[in-house]
Amino acid sequence: MSNLIRATLIPGDGIGPEIMQATLAALEALDAPFEWDWQVAGLAGMQAAGDPVPQATMDSIRSTRLALKGPLETPSGGGYRSANVRLREAFKLFANVRPAKTIIPGGRYENIDLLVFRENVEGLYMGYEHFIPMDGDPEAVAIATGVNTRQGSRRLLEYAFESAIALGRKKVTIVHKANIMKALTGIFLDEARKLYKAKYQGKIEMNEAIVDACSMKLVLNPWQFDTLVTTNLFGDIISDLVAGLVGGLGMAPGGNIGEDAAVFEAVHGSAPDIAGKGIANPIALMLGAAMMLDHVKLNDKAARLRKAIDDTLNIDKIRTGDLGGTANTKTFTDALIARIHNG
Ligand code: NAD
Repeated sequence: MSNLIRATLIPGDGIGPEIMQATLAALEALDAPFEWDWQVAGLAGMQAAGDPVPQATMDSIRSTRLALKGPLETPSGGGYRSANVRLREAFKLFANVRPAKTIIPGGRYENIDLLVFRENVEGLYMGYEHFIPMDGDPEAVAIATGVNTRQGSRRLLEYAFESAIALGRKKVTIVHKANIMKALTGIFLDEARKLYKAKYQGKIEMNEAIVDACSMKLVLNPWQFDTLVTTNLFGDIISDLVAGLVGGLGMAPGGNIGEDAAVFEAVHGSAPDIAGKGIANPIALMLGAAMMLDHVKLNDKAARLRKAIDDTLNIDKIRTGDLGGTANTKTFTDALIARIHNG
């Protein structure tokens, strides 16, 4: 029997194929035992199959339950829903995991090591929106409905607590707005308190923060936080905020973990302004691949990849333009591969 791990590979749009090629080269240098099933989505999905998430891509992820994905563009017009949202819903990818760790010293904030867990399928992002006409204006009033369930909240909270404990983290902060949105985010806070008392007290510390104050504290003194756990909309914002603390989206990976699959990615988009120029920074997607290696318990390979990235940036001082360097995607990747081989 083969020891290869089957996984779906979606190069993505814009810079996607360039950073994916670099990431695959790094995984190959690590002898990562993936057997890739190449599929398309986003604009490439539209071009190939007339659908941003073609059936073949869905079938592939359903069978492999694991995917590495480049950034996807959703075609504007035509009423298409975001390919990323469709993947989240189809595979019940309920947890969005976003680590933010300082890799390059000397930035605005030193020694950041934060982890954000965002509920990924409920809340205000379910798309339950409509307008009400008034006084001849068909869109006079806009209404959005958020939906959080106890079961959905508990599923994310349990995953976050279990992961935080397994990773040896010390404190979980539940981020909410239960003082105003008493039902929608109150249910999440309530489940967090109950779950903590029932299962996690004594294993890890837990506290609570209201999202607006939490945002301010993250900017003033991010070191007071460790692991942040929150609902969909707040998590979207907070996870970009913490990416900003470590130098922006170019270094930020994300994992989307679900009951039926896990999808790893770079947080940034397809960067159409630099696509095809060979200058994109592949680190975010490479760090996404490192999360994927951890997910399949190849932790030593994940650690080697992270160390090679660190050494290339900080010892060899080879950096792409977005990080103030002069390397392009290929020269950075070549240096990284030399680091993987030579330690
Ligand atoms: P973007 O992240 O693509 O680009 C923002 C800026 O950051 C640009 O100047 C870009 O050149 C730069 N940048 C991004 N990644 C970079 C990298 N790896 N190296 C160097 N520079 C990088 O955001 P946007 O322009 O708002 O979005 C472009 C498209 O991507 C849109 O269609 C959007 O819907 C899509 N998008 C997809 C995802 C995803 O699939 N996960 C996430 C965000 C945006």
